[in-house]
Amino acid sequence: MSIMVATGRGARAGVLVRDAAALERLARVDTLVVDKTGTLTEGRPSLVTVRLLGDVDERHMLRLAAGVERGSAHPLAAAIVDGAAERGVEPGPVLSFVSLAGRGVAGTVDGLPVLVGSESMLREHGVPVDALGAQAEAPRREGQTVVLVAAAGRPIGLLGIADRIKAQAGDALAALRHERLRIVLATGDSRLTAAAVARRLCISEVEPEIPPEGKGDLIRRLQDQGRVVAMAGDGINDAPALALADVGIAMGGGADVAVESAAVTLLHGDPRGIVRALRLSRGTRRNIRQNLLFAFAYNVLGVPLAAGVLYPALGVSLGPMIASAAMSLSSVSVIANALRLRRLSL
Ligand code: ADP
Ligand code: MG
Repeated sequence: MSIMVATGRGARAGVLVRDAAALERLARVDTLVVDKTGTLTEGRPSLVTVRLLGDVDERHMLRLAAGVERGSAHPLAAAIVDGAAERGVEPGPVLSFVSLAGRGVAGTVDGLPVLVGSESMLREHGVPVDALGAQAEAPRREGQTVVLVAAAGRPIGLLGIADRIKAQAGDALAALRHERLRIVLATGDSRLTAAAVARRLCISEVEPEIPPEGKGDLIRRLQDQGRVVAMAGDGINDAPALALADVGIAMGGGADVAVESAAVTLLHGDPRGIVRALRLSRGTRRNIRQNLLFAFAYNVLGVPLAAGVLYPALGVSLGPMIASAAMSLSSVSVIANALRLRRLSL
């Protein structure tokens, strides 16, 4: 009964809970792992920094980068293609495109082998990137994601992509800290960028540069420490982690797989929904305990009374009529108490 009312209450607040077990587990959660891109940030990044690193001019560099990124569904790819278009550059046609999940993309444009991706991805492909750290530092400190562009094995450009932090993220995290949750920011992005975002949201624990499979490992590690872990993500690269967590929380508006692998879905991708879900689950747990107490009290008092314990002393006993009325009354109080959940403030 309580669960049914709570599910309805949650739905009205934009919190969709899959089943009773999820609501129950959520009440026991003490650790929240949050994804950065698309969960704390808008997930609609835009290209704000363009630096040249070689002798290729800006238009050509953007033409090569946008050319390979056109094949990728990653939000960063859209930012690069749109950013090139805003600067009047058409993407070049790409051949033999490959996407390396959570790292970058590769392909051939204008006869040149082009790589666009993280520093570590380019390093693995033998591109000398060690000298570029200094150039990437300033945009990263502002929270931008830095993506490098290489052609024919040499770095030619650095792209800084900014993704605004969601307006409600600060409030949401403050409320979660107030509920005594341990909060861990997990991201595939660089340490500096992750730290810049974490600082703005007062998150002290950051796990940067996590490969796509790594988020699941992080969750398992926390669970091994005895933590009950919720994971909030948008499903881009983190669907397995959402499924692995004790409670997966999918940001609506993200990838559809997120909703499939998560026990809780937040409509509109509002991070304050995480707080609402938590309050809903704790409120429901309290309500269920009260109901058990009601039912127990009625039985403890009613059963001996009906059996006639007071009859010898006081001549009082419960006739079958009264006893059955008391039985229904117990159900009525349970229902009335459960219905109070409709007014639970979230
Ligand atoms: P997050 O965990 O923050 O959602 P991802 O795991 O999706 O981030 O990506 C991690 C990193 O991999 C990015 O910061 C970027 O450097 C690189 N990357 C991933 N996809 C692309 C792409 N299509 N183009 C360029 N770089 C990419
Ligand atoms: Mg993501």
